[in-house]
Amino acid sequence: MKEIGILGGGVAGLSLGYFIGKDCEILERSASVGGLCKSYEKDGFTFDLGGHIIFSRDTEILDFELELLEGKTNKLFRKANCYYKNRFVKYPFENGLSVLDKEDIYEILVGFVNNPPRPQNNFEDWIYNTFGKGLAEKYLIPYNQKIWKTPLTEMGVQWVERVPKPPLEDLVKSALGIETEGYVHQLYFHYPKTGGFETLPKTLAEHLPGQIATEFHVKKVLKDKQKWRVISDKYEREYEKLICAMPIYDLVASLENVPTEVTNAVSALQYNSLIVVMVGLNRPRREDMVTCFFPEKEIIFHRLVFFDYFGSNYAPEGCSSMVVEITGKENDQTFCMTDEQVAQRVIDDLTREGLIQKNEVVTTAVKRVKYAYPIYDLHREKNLEIVNAFCAEQKIELCGRFAEFNYLNSDAVIRSAKTVATRVGEGVARNA
Ligand SMILES: Cc1cc2nc3c(=O)[nH]c(=O)nc-3n(C[C@H](O)[C@H](O)[C@H](O)COP(=O)(O)OP(=O)(O)OC[C@H]3O[C@@H](n4cnc5c(N)ncnc54)[C@H](O)[C@@H]3O)c2cc1C
Repeated sequence: MKEIGILGGGVAGLSLGYFIGKDCEILERSASVGGLCKSYEKDGFTFDLGGHIIFSRDTEILDFELELLEGKTNKLFRKANCYYKNRFVKYPFENGLSVLDKEDIYEILVGFVNNPPRPQNNFEDWIYNTFGKGLAEKYLIPYNQKIWKTPLTEMGVQWVERVPKPPLEDLVKSALGIETEGYVHQLYFHYPKTGGFETLPKTLAEHLPGQIATEFHVKKVLKDKQKWRVISDKYEREYEKLICAMPIYDLVASLENVPTEVTNAVSALQYNSLIVVMVGLNRPRREDMVTCFFPEKEIIFHRLVFFDYFGSNYAPEGCSSMVVEITGKENDQTFCMTDEQVAQRVIDDLTREGLIQKNEVVTTAVKRVKYAYPIYDLHREKNLEIVNAFCAEQKIELCGRFAEFNYLNSDAVIRSAKTVATRVGEGVARNA
């Protein structure tokens, strides 16, 4: 019997396994580990669940990731754009103003300078206060409405408060066409040379001293004296300690006698699901960029990744690929479409915008993800407090994007795993 059971084999579970060492076991529902960081192949095209890249402000974790991948990555320049009125505008939008119509530039500058602060009660207020009316209404509000599918007045601001207000000087320079850069910590990123982003979780898994049990769908978690019994349809395990690195919804559903206040709090936590569509093309890439953001409602996706930017080996010779992301709720109109219908709609939108021609498409693939984005609605903090207090009382540690219900990228998930591993392993964790 292993001492520690880790529920979920995404990057959180795998990093926990790495830092804790041999005294743990990871239980993963799917046939393979990796969770949201998995990659897929179809007809010689590789693609991820959306645009996953390796970057971090946390230099210790970034160094850890790169050392783990030992020369298996390329360092690439983040060439990104936003798509507005049928043209590409350098990302972030406020750094590419010179290509806009004069009226748009004027409204953006005046809105930025003449921006009396409003009381900041929600995400929409924060957007107006930080960027002014022009940037807010032309780009930031439509884009965020599209990705979050939630009224921005019903979202909080804790997750964006650290985003700095762009300097007026940068806006003026960008309006005049003088080069400026925003979000410089993302200016360069790293990406695996082969295997897609999944190379990160795969390599973590290869370095694990402990065990992984795949196809172990955790259905019941029972406290039996001092032991935890973890049960799937076929198997059962016992552990002294438990760490949840799978979505909090699954954990709470598998426990017995959970107070109603807690089940209510968990079911009130809102999330967005994701559809990813890969489009393989029989011609080389035309656009010199890795990604592009689409605020306009008429276009079904909010982000497009030019996937072969990551490496020519990610598409067959002479070909290229696009991967688009569509968020939504599981029972909304888009999510009720069949895979074929969604792929066709994506092809129609790309064609209408002049980004592809229909006869260039040689293959498509569609993937759906239930838990993709935790939503920071105005009640999230209060609900999360209830859930966290309950899990702390049960002595179940939480680690990962949907276990902690935080908008964490994989670097932040690895940081969290290191912290939890240190705590659980009585202060003895492997070095990152
Ligand atoms: C569109 C998109 C783009 C992103 N881009 C980036 C990026 O550029 N860079 C970056 O670093 N991060 C990015 N991220 C974030 C990154 O994907 C996550 O931070 C990371 O994958 C979260 O890992 P996790 O282990 O917490 O969760 P998950 O990957 O969700 O893992 C949870 C695991 O639990 C398993 N599980 C679920 N239920 C059960 C059960 N009942 N029993 C057993 N197992 C179960 C699942 O199968 C899964 O393997 C992006 C995410 C999205 C959605």
